[in-house]
Amino acid sequence: MASALSDRLSRLVKTMRGQARITEDNVAEMLREVRMALLEADVALPVVRDFIARVKLKALGQDVVGSLTPGQALVGVVHKELARTMGELDANGEPKAGPSELNLATQPPAVILMAGLQGAGKTTTTAKLAKHLVEKRKKKVLTVSGDVYRPAAIEQLKTVTAQAGAEWFPSQPSDQPVDIALAALDHAKRHYFDVLIVDTAGRLAIDEALMAEIRALHAALKPIETLFVVDAMQGQDAVNTAQAFGAALPLSGIVLTKLDGDSRGGAALSVRSVTGAPIKFAGVSEKIDGLEAFDAERHAGRVLG
Ligand code: GDP
Repeated sequence: MASALSDRLSRLVKTMRGQARITEDNVAEMLREVRMALLEADVALPVVRDFIARVKLKALGQDVVGSLTPGQALVGVVHKELARTMGELDANGEPKAGPSELNLATQPPAVILMAGLQGAGKTTTTAKLAKHLVEKRKKKVLTVSGDVYRPAAIEQLKTVTAQAGAEWFPSQPSDQPVDIALAALDHAKRHYFDVLIVDTAGRLAIDEALMAEIRALHAALKPIETLFVVDAMQGQDAVNTAQAFGAALPLSGIVLTKLDGDSRGGAALSVRSVTGAPIKFAGVSEKIDGLEAFDAERHAGRVLG
């Protein structure tokens, strides 16, 4: 087991003791350590390279060189840049204050479209979000499944929606996903639902038919939130998946699931960089209340180790 980044950096700072000031070489050496920490956290290589280049610019441009505690100052720069890279930003490009929330600012029903591979946690997350909206935001929520290929998935959504205190719209496996979703939308309008969450089919690997289908759903529903659900344990593979979904859909946010697993969560950085969409929520258990607003600052510490 490699030692934590903070340990390695403090060793490095020690070896520099007696130097009048920290040099560009010292910064380069520290950045090598940061690079290693990110690779150990399973962040994809091109994402690591990009990130290091940005941190280097910031580090050299700021008070790190010549600072009294250069090691800490550099770790601070890295930490801040990681948090900035993963979380939501305000209009000035600064990390947004407060926990992430779903955007429902539209004429109701606000539609939320769930995208991702099979097994990523879409159905579970649909129920978690429904519960969150019902309990925390006092919304009337309807869910519907577009997974006509797996009747079991439709049943699973029915069960977890009931647990969430929301309502479920039935889908017939013989119908087209777009028709099912539009029928649910019509039902939601007529019965004054605030939110409709549309769960979709996933495949074990990305394929064109799946992408065409979810694009059609997006075009028909015009969702205010299009959430990409991705398994944190997927590590570097998350990049390819994110790329494919990001190219197919205008993603408004990411839900990083299974953060309770033992991964360092480097996928967060990769997926955020590749799609440009902020990570809004994290799944932290299989249970229906296992959802947290994503905390970029805290996650930065975890990724760095
Ligand atoms: P879908 O195919 O994308 O709809 O995925 P599911 O919602 O069926 O989830 C697949 C598996 O992952 C199930 O066994 C879930 O219980 C599990 N799962 C989903 N989210 C989490 C999470 O945040 N933590 C853990 N530990 N398991 C999760």
